[in-house]
Amino acid sequence: MMETDVLVVGSSLSGMMTTLNLKHRNPALDVTVLGPLPADEKRPLVGESLVEPGILFFREVGLGPHLDRMQVLKNGLTFYHKFDLSNPADRAYTVLAPKILFHKARQLRRREFDTACREKAVELGARMIQGTADEIQIGTNGAKHRVVTVVQGKKVEIRSRWIVDATGRSRLIGKKVTSYIRPEKQRSTFWFRLRNFKPFFEHIDVHCRRRWEFDPWLTTHHFMGRGYWIWCIPLEIGEENLCSIGFTYRPDLFARRILSIDDFLAQVDLDHPAISEMVRSGEIVDTQMYLDYFYKSERLYSEDGWFLVGDAVRAVDPLYSNGISMTTVQVGQIAEIIERQRDGKLRPGDVSALDQVGIAVMERAQREVTEQYEIMHDPFQASMRRCLNVTGWFNGFLPMWWNGFFTTPEAARLFIRFFRDRDEEAESLWTLAGEASAAIGPRYDQKGFDRGPDLDMLLNLRFDCARKDVMEVVTRTFKRRRDMRLNLLAMTGYRNLLREAPRLISETIRPLLFRMLPILKPAVFAALRPPLQNQYVRWTGADREVPEPEVPYIGGYGRPTLALHERPDNRTR
Ligand SMILES: Cc1cc2nc3c(=O)[nH]c(=O)nc-3n(C[C@H](O)[C@H](O)[C@H](O)COP(=O)(O)OP(=O)(O)OC[C@H]3O[C@@H](n4cnc5c(N)ncnc54)[C@H](O)[C@@H]3O)c2cc1C
Repeated sequence: MMETDVLVVGSSLSGMMTTLNLKHRNPALDVTVLGPLPADEKRPLVGESLVEPGILFFREVGLGPHLDRMQVLKNGLTFYHKFDLSNPADRAYTVLAPKILFHKARQLRRREFDTACREKAVELGARMIQGTADEIQIGTNGAKHRVVTVVQGKKVEIRSRWIVDATGRSRLIGKKVTSYIRPEKQRSTFWFRLRNFKPFFEHIDVHCRRRWEFDPWLTTHHFMGRGYWIWCIPLEIGEENLCSIGFTYRPDLFARRILSIDDFLAQVDLDHPAISEMVRSGEIVDTQMYLDYFYKSERLYSEDGWFLVGDAVRAVDPLYSNGISMTTVQVGQIAEIIERQRDGKLRPGDVSALDQVGIAVMERAQREVTEQYEIMHDPFQASMRRCLNVTGWFNGFLPMWWNGFFTTPEAARLFIRFFRDRDEEAESLWTLAGEASAAIGPRYDQKGFDRGPDLDMLLNLRFDCARKDVMEVVTRTFKRRRDMRLNLLAMTGYRNLLREAPRLISETIRPLLFRMLPILKPAVFAALRPPLQNQYVRWTGADREVPEPEVPYIGGYGRPTLALHERPDNRTR
């Protein structure tokens, strides 16, 4: 029999993130990971990309050098909205992307990255066991958890005080300890990797408010359609390029199934011929799909010492590439609970507060994406939803996460008191965007878009504020929403000013209340503990304005484990 403090079941990204965080924060904690080697994984590989919390998390645990040298740079997300989706011959797009971001991210060639995570976890002192959990018993009221596995032909029993379900869609522990909901508005996705292709750039007619200050290929590309969207993630650059392309749809709105490259091309020829030409110019490496793949768990954590993380909790729609970032929030919560329990400082209700906040932020992020499918084909409305989402992300979510609002139980309690299940003010902006859209189209042109809110004005690139400033920064969300509202009203000749007046007043008064919170609740603000301590010190310290030095990208060509050099296991042509 083997004893360990924490047993992480599942050795893919969420398992490694949990382990890296626990060992980085608590070198003396005994953490064991049970799961297969990256090279032996049978699950479909995606080819994801990171956004702010994910990249900062990996920098915190020491994977910055790997990411900078080995993984392709990502300058945020770029969205392509076609002016006239009904016309296959029309190649004019309005393109929405921030001019330049401060904390840039990276795309992920997963197998190499998974290997780097594993090596780092071992370096930090985690124990790795290759195998699968065959039997699991969850202990209650302080009793240890028990897992049985087979290592080199021998049955091994592992006992642990804490256990983490990081088994992804298998949800090995989750299925024993909680229930899962299958949302009605389902999602399906078909994706593939493409190599040695000619990028689509020369074959589209780009319109934008202002030129961005980066190589426009080094971003994730999103093309919008009716009830679906397409991603294109550059995974390797240079002559032997590689990218991940995916087609995600809401089956209740997009009536067909995309089951093959031929299905993909048939649809994309009609809407985005530049993408289908790019696909035909290259070579398919492999194809994957998930049909109706959405689920979500009712609970995340328990005082009995079990935790669900990543895909063991929920499936994500990757529209905003924020799945790994939501896992970043979770691994901060898990570490906080374990540390408080170990130190005898966990108070009644702490676990429940973090559980509720974790569910609330993940649910809100997914719901906004789900609803967006209904207007994805309308270029103005869809781009306004995005502006609204990034306003909340950069001005609300990120500064709060950065300062520990979602990972400190005292702050989580306060957050829950203010959090509303439905964001009616955002929904009223959706209506207003629909009215403004009707005022400028169809047929749309860039001049109409230039009359709308400006993405760069809505961002807050330096969300990485100090604790004392957090509420001041968060209140910008209201101000920016009010500016959006006034801008959209102006586009419709202030026709509905009276209807919008209460919202405008609320968006003026609420910042005043939020600014009072540190005075009214000093204990909450004193308890705040940033989840990424080193990053916090770095980016709120004296050298705050000094950017990280640029590290030359080498890429994966020198390494035999590179995905590009793998034998294509599911070649379609
Ligand atoms: C199409 C798509 C695109 C996405 N794009 C993005 C993106 O761009 N950005 C982003 O941030 N997120 C993205 N995501 C989300 C992200 O890919 C997932 O959230 C993430 O990969 C989940 O990792 P995981 O470790 O939770 O699960 P998995 O990667 O599925 O890992 C589960 C692990 O558990 C192991 N396991 C299973 N059963 C057992 C057992 N009995 N014993 C031991 N081990 C076991 C498996 O072998 C594996 O190691 C995307 C998701 C999808 C579906």
